[in-house]
Amino acid sequence: MRKLFTGISQLAGHLPQGESFRSGAQMSQMEPLKDAYLLVEEGIILELGSGEAPRADIIVDLGGVEVMPGYVDSHTHAVFAAPRHEEFALRLKGASYEEIAAAGGGILNSAAKMALISEEQLYRQSEAFVRNMMAHGTTCLEIKSGYGLSIESELKILRVARRLQENLPLTIRTTFLGAHAFPKEYKGREDDYVKLVIEEMLPRVLDQGLADHIDVFCDRGFFTVEQTARILEAGARAGLPAKIHGNELGLTGGVQVAAAHGAYSVDHLEHCGPDEIACLQQSEVVPVALPGTSYFLGLPYTPGRELIAAGLPLAIASDFNPGSSPMLSMQAVVALACTQMKLMPEEALWASTANAARALRLEDQLGSLSVGKRADFWTTRSQDAWLSIPYFMGINHAQRVFIGGEEVTS
Ligand SMILES: [Zn+2]
Repeated sequence: MRKLFTGISQLAGHLPQGESFRSGAQMSQMEPLKDAYLLVEEGIILELGSGEAPRADIIVDLGGVEVMPGYVDSHTHAVFAAPRHEEFALRLKGASYEEIAAAGGGILNSAAKMALISEEQLYRQSEAFVRNMMAHGTTCLEIKSGYGLSIESELKILRVARRLQENLPLTIRTTFLGAHAFPKEYKGREDDYVKLVIEEMLPRVLDQGLADHIDVFCDRGFFTVEQTARILEAGARAGLPAKIHGNELGLTGGVQVAAAHGAYSVDHLEHCGPDEIACLQQSEVVPVALPGTSYFLGLPYTPGRELIAAGLPLAIASDFNPGSSPMLSMQAVVALACTQMKLMPEEALWASTANAARALRLEDQLGSLSVGKRADFWTTRSQDAWLSIPYFMGINHAQRVFIGGEEVTS
């Protein structure tokens, strides 16, 4: 059954055959199609173009809207037990994220709440967040564990993420992040926790087929480069590719350990100097900036301009989580990437779609509106939408959202 979408005044996010993401100077190129059509069969784009449309079994006239590619949010912690409003108030009074973490707040606070919440309640509230993301144009996302820090809680988070994957139309990938922080009771014997992650948590996660990647928070006060390497090696032996939290708090070797282990991406990079950039240039690791975290914590922003100038395929993601980035709209993330990191709107478009798909190694299936890719898109009445999104920040530009050519908004 061929479905034809017409009534598209302008379509953004199209890549020519043979191109699945964009690096460096190419990221400023974006050629929107005017008066466009989109022909879809079994969820996949069969043909698209401007002007006269081909024949089809079903015709959907979208009524003169613009079409944008679905966002790929490649880094989220969307399954969490509760917001951390109390820490927000402390930070407004001047406490830093690191001070709060050292006092047992932060990730440990989330882990304590995770131990208490029922799996059903966790599922229900996570589903509401993910549906909200979808209503803002996100059609693919990654979800990490890491708010458990115990075997049972880590498994609970990943089971909920898998259930979201089964029940919702979005493409969802899961990541085991048992090494997100050290539980309080492991203070002074951190290596025992690393052992727990490798020898007890990871085998259970693998047995139940709950994770697609493995992740470690490699940073000052969290996991050392050596501990990170050990965990990534264990993941690799089990066939789990790596994604790293690195260089959020300092120049702490996250980029180098990611490159040495062939990670799909290294995420955060608020601290990123010439050595880190040179290392990324020698690797296939996608640098992922999380501007919502810089905004919410008052951290420096990832040097996006330098990463693009170095010819790298910069991606951006929400890092949606209760402690450092309670921002689930990729439209808001795009706006911050432009205003704070000085990305051009075209660059922010690729960073949030095709390059983000590359950060999950899904760029051959989705991330751009191109022949052979999944028909994941949303409609808007905003003019030159990729320019309007960062400009008119704070409104939802998305009207109707389609995944695999099927409408998911009602
Ligand atoms: Zn994160």
